[in-house]
Amino acid sequence: MIKERGLLIVLSGPSGVGKGTVRKELFSQPNTNYEYSISMTTRNPREGEVDGVDYFFKTRDEFEALIEQGGLLEHAEFVGNYYGTPIAYVNETLDAGRDVFLEIEVQGAAQIREKAPDALFIFLAPPSLTELKDRLVGRGTETADVISKRIATASEELEMMSLYDYVVENDEVTNACDRINAIIKAEHCRRERVEKRYLSMLRGE
Ligand code: 5GP
Repeated sequence: MIKERGLLIVLSGPSGVGKGTVRKELFSQPNTNYEYSISMTTRNPREGEVDGVDYFFKTRDEFEALIEQGGLLEHAEFVGNYYGTPIAYVNETLDAGRDVFLEIEVQGAAQIREKAPDALFIFLAPPSLTELKDRLVGRGTETADVISKRIATASEELEMMSLYDYVVENDEVTNACDRINAIIKAEHCRRERVEKRYLSMLRGE
């Protein structure tokens, strides 16, 4: 029987929405059974961050050499630094039948959508529509200019959603995590995925 390939899970969303916090909470839960892909970056480590745990910290030259070699599944420049996903770990882990979880910004997610359309794309969205409206209009003290800038940002964020399979509102970290775990469970039951396994079994593979 062929071993089913793991699921590539991509969590992304606008900057400041809390992707990192949600990811850390997911991986602090004891029953999490997907693997975190540690990213590479050229930014400096923050206080308490450990090389090989939080990120693989690289120089720009090292990072660019890796891009040249095709060693990254995706990469993007974000606030003046490179971020990218090492491809070898992702492929080895998926081939071993384990799910891989990426927490990345939106440009990188768009690249994966092209390269791996069967991945699971989850968009972490800002709190709730009501809160969004409150934030946009503010307390009535914001200038029309500030409000229109906020609306423009929110509209861009909404447009980005169209690349994703699911949208999870980050109203509370634990709620967001519950929804993400439910989506991953459901995704494993998706007919297209399950059917492939049954058919290959019937073929005696
Ligand atoms: P930070 O510098 O705060 O750790 O991360 C900045 C942004 O980079 C966050 O939005 C984070 O999701 C994103 N990021 C982290 N790793 C990767 C990666 O491997 N690829 C891409 N495209 N973005 C990443």
